[in-house]
Amino acid sequence: MKDSFDIRRWIENPEELLLIAGPCSVESREQIFDTAKKLHELHRVNILRGGIWKPRTRPNGFEGIGEEGLKWMKEISNDTGLPVMTEVATPEHVELALKYNVDALWIGARTTANPFSMQQLADALEGCDVPVFVKNPIAPDLKLWIGAFERLASSGLRHLAAIHRGFQDVNSNPYRNNPRWEIPIELRRKNPEIPIITDISHICGCRNLLHDTAQKALDLATNGLMIESHCNPDCALTDAEQQITPDNLKAMLSDLIIHKSKSNNADFLLQELRTQIDNIDDELLQLLAKRSEISSKIGVIKKENNLTVLQLDRWNSILSKHIEKGMTLGLKEELVKEIFELIHKDSIERQL
Ligand code: PEP
Ligand code: MN
Repeated sequence: MKDSFDIRRWIENPEELLLIAGPCSVESREQIFDTAKKLHELHRVNILRGGIWKPRTRPNGFEGIGEEGLKWMKEISNDTGLPVMTEVATPEHVELALKYNVDALWIGARTTANPFSMQQLADALEGCDVPVFVKNPIAPDLKLWIGAFERLASSGLRHLAAIHRGFQDVNSNPYRNNPRWEIPIELRRKNPEIPIITDISHICGCRNLLHDTAQKALDLATNGLMIESHCNPDCALTDAEQQITPDNLKAMLSDLIIHKSKSNNADFLLQELRTQIDNIDDELLQLLAKRSEISSKIGVIKKENNLTVLQLDRWNSILSKHIEKGMTLGLKEELVKEIFELIHKDSIERQL
């Protein structure tokens, strides 16, 4: 039976949570067919992923099955209706992926990081309307990520989405790639029309962090998740530590709280403002602690000089000065008065 999931339409209106799942690499006909069948049976997966050409940190590892894998992917797509997706890093990859009618492409983190490669891909894709998902560059550099979208858009690509897969940092502990959530949030703020999905597998690098990271992404109103899933993850040829079985994927999904209202922007923008509020509250607390320390020092001087703790003139002048200033800043008189009464009370108690 042919699924009706339409990737282009989803990119235009990413209301439902997109789920991309599949192995890190297509390894053999049996492996990809078995994995795809199990994932399809979950009735939750929208797109099957599978790496055909693998960027490896060091040579002589498994570098991907190549063109043959594309035939299997397309066969699966024709049989099940599940759209399929693979990574392209060179114009030759683009040509082959298009030849086999792969439904969507993704651009890997190492490629996004390289403007020369990005431009070659944009040129190779000129005039195509294939949906392209762009992973963030390995370095935490938002401009490079946005630059990749600009190059693709200049080639006429109209269906673009982002994949947040974390960033290489000196210290990413406990993650494989530091999520740096503020970066996709800033991308959302600057380019609200680009849906962003979260590749929790490459952020985590291990299985035990996947659930909590997925929940965090959902709380931050991600538009979707990319999760590496393999029929026999322990024997996977690439990224074995982070892949999970389709059964475990099912269990994890049923455990996640998926927020209903996906109003494109509101959740991300709220989160951004709340982060700002948290930072301000933090500063307020630090300032209060600093003020208390100074107040204690004043208490010592008063004691040494036999002065009363309460200095009414000083207190009156502080209060009226702050109320006046607060009002010019648009704060209510009552609010400023109550805050400073509490602060003053604490100061007095410290000095007694
Ligand atoms: C992948 O998705 O398997 C992959 C290689 O990802 P990234 O480019 O995020 O490292
Ligand atoms: Mn991988």
